[in-house]
Parts: sequence; structure tokens; C-alpha cells
Amino acid sequence: MADYVFDATRDDVPEDGLTADQLFAAGDGLTYNDFIILPGYIDFTADQVDLSSPLTRRITLKAPLVSTPMDTVTESDMAIAMALSGGIGIIHHNCSPEYQATEVQKVKKYKHGFIRDPVVLSPDHTMADVLRVKAMHGFSGVPITESGKLGSRLVGIVTSKDIDFIENVATQQGERLDSVMTRLKDLITAPAGVALQEANSILEMSKKGKLPIVNESGELVSLMARTDLKKNRSHPNASKDENKQLLVGAAIGSRDEDKERLKYLASAGVDVIVLDSSQGNSKFQIEMLRYVKSAYPELEVIAGNVVTCAQAKNLIEAGADGLRVGMGSGSICITQEVMAVGRPQATAVYKVSEYAKRFGVPVIADGGIQSIGHIIKGLCLGASTVMMGSLLAGTSEAPGEYFFSDGVRLKKYRGMGSLEAMERRDTKGSAMDRYYHNEMDKLKVAQGVSGSIVDKGSILKFLPYLQCGIKHGCQDIGARSVSALRSMVYNGEIRFERRTQSAQLEGNVHGLFSHEKRIF
Ligand code: GDP
Ligand code: GDP
Ligand code: 5GP
Repeated sequence: MADYVFDATRDDVPEDGLTADQLFAAGDGLTYNDFIILPGYIDFTADQVDLSSPLTRRITLKAPLVSTPMDTVTESDMAIAMALSGGIGIIHHNCSPEYQATEVQKVKKYKHGFIRDPVVLSPDHTMADVLRVKAMHGFSGVPITESGKLGSRLVGIVTSKDIDFIENVATQQGERLDSVMTRLKDLITAPAGVALQEANSILEMSKKGKLPIVNESGELVSLMARTDLKKNRSHPNASKDENKQLLVGAAIGSRDEDKERLKYLASAGVDVIVLDSSQGNSKFQIEMLRYVKSAYPELEVIAGNVVTCAQAKNLIEAGADGLRVGMGSGSICITQEVMAVGRPQATAVYKVSEYAKRFGVPVIADGGIQSIGHIIKGLCLGASTVMMGSLLAGTSEAPGEYFFSDGVRLKKYRGMGSLEAMERRDTKGSAMDRYYHNEMDKLKVAQGVSGSIVDKGSILKFLPYLQCGIKHGCQDIGARSVSALRSMVYNGEIRFERRTQSAQLEGNVHGLFSHEKRIF
């Protein structure tokens, strides 16, 4: 054996592993499981890792996590939990426009800085009206103005304390609010134009639950709720707009009637529109994209899905603010089998991200995410965020009821291109058109299946686990942030290696008679 003299001044460590470019150079499509990332150097703790990452050109999230617009994954409960945890939820559109817009509105109304459109009543309304507001909206702090409208003179406020003990007493329900409300002279208010921070400290000092904001003529301009300060403290990483309302997205199709749907969504305050198509490189989507960008310039639009640079080029040229990447990689998906079209997800994410970054357009890696490792791999291939379906389904915030099968508690999870989803006709309204393109199509061709997922508990516990795992992955790689991770992909610092079949077996639990896989 040749003598090897250790020389600390030499730094010629032999090249090890492959750059991302080299990994994909062979041209055969790879999945997340086909490769592994080599460890780097750690000089920071995992909790120092910064997970912020752009969703679109103008929106950056504190966590790179997006819930998919599927009717068994994202409605308002999921979207609220996603946004509170620093990600975002995209409300599905397998429902009427009114239903979808109401779900968006529930997310936007969950918390506020200033509540600019508070529910207001007049002194002539009765306790029964307050109870109705409570039943419909869940709150009972109602400012009272002369006309019962915003912009009229504030005369008092009714709060939960006024209604706590009257719910079953019919006679009291007819009582006029004039005799129940706390009158203006006993209220603490703040002047219109007050800064949020200052209003917050007035609210804190006042020890009251609500702070009405009034102009010089004493007219009600907006309202603030103490609960919102607490919500902010409990969820410091929440994704929110400048008025501290949670961010939310909504999906639409690319038919003419989707313009009507868009109108509802925009007036409900949606922040991001996702153009939902399994093959986004179409004349219809490009026209819709141009329409949304010109009619609603304030809305961010994510186009897709795409898996090739040529597809991405057309959508970027038409003004996409983000791209959704993936075709046929979803857990419920049979597109590749039925249509023979698609692309293995790791290759799709790398190729499109590498192209889109030249134009500053962030990429969402959509589909096929089964574990934290897959999230890290998606981000390591240049995606800015990941979109998840099956990983989030089965949680208490996913739509649908739990049921038992063989003693296991389950929730339904189905592809939006499954026959079951496409044929949906219930209280939520219209059927799906993502996979069912043409009214003239006599026969539907399913591109997805319907199944079930084991109960995962609350997403509010699951998301912190995902985020903690991503931070540890970044730490092992030696990246202090998700954005550092992305630049390390392109400067060749992150090294990859192909995994043979036996390497994949070795990388999983093996050789045990039995084991329990508790993950968090
Ligand atoms: P940012 O990272 O600078 O956006 O920090 P925050 O939004 O957490 O806080 C900025 C200020 O806004 C602080 O004074 C917070 O108390 C206040 N704030 C954040 N969320 C809310 C909210 O929902 N309601 C109210 N009233 N104030 C909020
Ligand atoms: P209340 O005391 O019963 O009014 O309820 P809280 O103040 O505890 O919570 C009200 C929550 O609903 C806050 O997060 C508000 O931001 C939100 N909210 C949304 N719209 C309105 C509204 O029109 N009026 C009130 N009072 N709260 C609203
Ligand atoms: P998962 O996270 O479950 O692996 O994949 C979710 C993704 O699969 C969704 O975000 C969407 O892009 C895609 N998807 C949803 N429903 C269907 C379907 O019925 N067929 C196909 N081909 N893809 C679907």
C-alpha cells in the first residue's frame, strides 16, 4: 500500500458525487427515489435554518408548503391551518363559484389587523339579530351605528358578554339593542388613520375585546379584535397580507365560465389564482392567463401543470407568476398509465426549475411527495415550494368525515380526475373539468382513482413536524436556508448520487422481523 502523508494545507479533495446537471445528463427520467443527496458541512443548528421561499414572483412564504386544490384536501379549514403554519392552501373548484368564494372568504375573515367590513347593527335591531350573527359568523362583537351600517355614527357596541346568558330566553331576544349595548361614552375608540401598532397598544391597554375606529365625525371606519393579537402571538410565522389577513389561493379552470368564478373569488379577497389543468400548455390556459393578468393585475397567477421547458416557455411568456410542475406523479394518478404522457417527477422538477429561474418564476413541485425526504429532494432540484395531496389528506382539517374499515379510522382521498370526483353532484355544486375537457366527450376517461388515508390527526401538529424535518435535512446538506439550497444546486455545491435498486432497499428499514414506524 502506498504511503499517504496527510498534508493539511492541501485541499484537493477528489470530486465526489454528481452535480444536478450531471445527475440528469443521461436523459432517463428519474423519480425522487432514484437518487440521494450527499451530506455537506454543518456550522449552524437546525433551528437556525430559514425556510422562507417564494410561491410566486410577489408572494414569499415562511414555509415552502402548499396544499393542493383537491376536494378531499383543501377547503377553508385546511387553508387556514396551512396559512397559520407559514404555508398556503389552494381551495379546490369542484363546487359552485359561490361555495368556493365563501371558503376563500372564511380564510380571509379568520384574522385581521383592521376589520374593514365588520358586521354592524343599529339600535333598533334586537338581541335575536345578534344571536343570528353569532350563529352565522361565529362572533358576537357587533358595533352599533345610527343606521346599522359602516360609515354611520357609532353609538355603542354589543359583545359576547351581553348575550352570554340570554340564549334560551325568548322574551329577551326581542329586546332592542338600544337598551342592551354599551354606550359610546363608555367606549374606548381610536381615530381613523391610526397605525396598526398604535391601535394594538390602545387595544391592549384598554383591556377590552374590541376597538372601534372612528373618523372626526364619529363615524365607524373599522374595528379591531383583541383575539387577533392572540392569534398572531400563537402563530408568528403565519402567511398574511399587509392587513394581517391570512393568504389564500383558489383554483379555476380555463373555460369561459371560469371568468365568472374568478369574479366571485376576487371579490372574496383571494390572493393567488391557480390555473388548474393537468396539461397547462394549451391555447385555452394561455388565453385565460392573459385575461386574469389584465383584468386583475393585483392577483398572482400560478399556471400549469407543466413538465417540460417548452411548456413552461409558453406560460412564462403569457405572464405566469409561478409554475406548477408534475404530470402523472400524484399518488392517486393514472395519467401515465392511461394517456402514456407525463414525466418522472424529479426530472420534471429539475428541468423546469432550471429553465424558469432565468425568468425569476418560482416552481411548485406538485405530486408524488410521500415523505419529508421527498420535500427536501424537490427543493434540492430547484423547486421553491412543494404541493401535497396524500400527505395532508386524512387530517382533521381535510374535508370529509372519518369512517372505519377493519377497525382503522380513515378519510377518503380521491383524484380530481377520478370518475367519482368528475361525477360529483351534491350540495357543493358543479362537476370537475380539469380532466374532462369537452362537453361533447360522451365518455369520461378517468385519470385518477379514489381511495382512503389513515387518520393523521390535526394538520397543526403535522406541519411543525414537516418543517422541523426539512430544517434537519437542510442542516445535513449544509444549507442555512431554502434559498441557499437552491443556489447550491446551481453552483454545484450540492452533490447527488444515483441509487440502484439495492441502494433503495438498503436505505429503507430492512432485515427486521417486525417494526413499528412511528414518525412523529
Ligand atoms: P411582520 O413580520 O412585521 O409582519 O410581523 P407581524 O405581522 O407579526 O407583526 C407586526 C405588527 O402587526 C405587530 O404589532 C403585531 O402585533 C401586529 N399584528 C400581526 N398580526 C395581527 C393581527 O392579526 N391583528 C392585529 N390587530 N395586529 C396584528
Ligand atoms: P367575539 O368576541 O364573539 O366578537 O369574537 P372574537 O373577537 O373572539 O373573534 C372574532 C374573530 O372574527 C376575529 O378573529 C376577527 O378578526 C374575526 N372577524 C371577522 N369579521 C368580523 C366582524 O365583522 N366582526 C367581528 N367582531 N369579528 C370579525
Ligand atoms: P399526491 O401529493 O397525492 O402525490 O399528488 C397530488 C397531486 O396529484 C395534485 O396536486 C394534482 O396535481 C395531482 N392530481 C390530483 N388528482 C389527480 C387525478 O385524478 N389524476 C392525475 N393525473 N393527477 C391528479
